[in-house]
Amino acid sequence: MRIFLTLDYELFSGANPGSVEKTILLPTRKLLEVADRHDAKFVFFVDSGYLARLRHFADTYPSAGADYDAVRAQIEALDNAGHDIQLHIHPHWEDCTYDANGWHMDTSRFRIHSFSEAEIDDIVGRYKSALTEIVGENIFAYRAGGWCLQPFDKLRPALKKHGIRLDSTVYEDGLNSSQTHYYDFRGMPHKTLYRFEEDPVREDPQGYFVEVPISTYAVSPLFFWRFAWTKKLGSSDHRVYADGVGAGGTSGASMVRMLTRPTKSLVSMDGLRASLLQKALDANARKEPDGNFVVIGHPKAVTPYSLRELDRFLQRASKKRHSVGTFASYM
Ligand SMILES: [Zn+2]
Repeated sequence: MRIFLTLDYELFSGANPGSVEKTILLPTRKLLEVADRHDAKFVFFVDSGYLARLRHFADTYPSAGADYDAVRAQIEALDNAGHDIQLHIHPHWEDCTYDANGWHMDTSRFRIHSFSEAEIDDIVGRYKSALTEIVGENIFAYRAGGWCLQPFDKLRPALKKHGIRLDSTVYEDGLNSSQTHYYDFRGMPHKTLYRFEEDPVREDPQGYFVEVPISTYAVSPLFFWRFAWTKKLGSSDHRVYADGVGAGGTSGASMVRMLTRPTKSLVSMDGLRASLLQKALDANARKEPDGNFVVIGHPKAVTPYSLRELDRFLQRASKKRHSVGTFASYM
């Protein structure tokens, strides 16, 4: 299979988003140590609204300027080393402010659909520029913040206009309809790559956009019991390097579902989930040996344990002749 190790490169969206060093830079360096051992390349979906906003405050607050310079330097280095830098949009940065005490987060407009079509066009354009001015013009892939990609007609004109032609957001059976999130990926094609136009879960061979879905894997309730238990124990092996706090995504109802019956889960290199990578790859390879296997991850969720599991996974993947690459190298 063609393996894509994708990372949403971002702070947390809660009241305490975390420091740049511990939440992004340090865990990314740890991930690179692992990737370099296997000559593997990552795809970084950079939360570019954060970059744009940081830059906006850089002239007034030296600490914001220092953070901007540090993130920019890491993104430059990633690009030079052959990793993919692509677009991830969390539009709530439009409403966040910065002062001597740091960030004041406002996530009331978390979904991009909270903005008008004209505003979305402006956001996509500015956020893409925040990346092109660092790494040049090769920004063509997108992952929606919080998977909020639908209804797609509100985003389509802006993405097209700004040359975004590949999406990697959807996943089988994905469904979330809450105060902050909305998406419904049920009924999407059972394919690891397809074209679309009107809706990312409806194939259209003539469509402008290519979808490369995030892979999924059927996970037994036992795993989530172990997951909940290990989190409770909090051994240092399972502690994240990050120092921020998430907004809390998993609802009580979906937690109950995961603890009681098998659920499709995103294939992820985050925390304890990294232990499932190998089995997930085998299961997906049985279905479509020449297909794409897209793993999601976040520097903010890296733990010593997840790094070891990723290392093992890459070792076995190369023995079994799976390739690990970037969207830029294949698409
Ligand atoms: Zn994100």
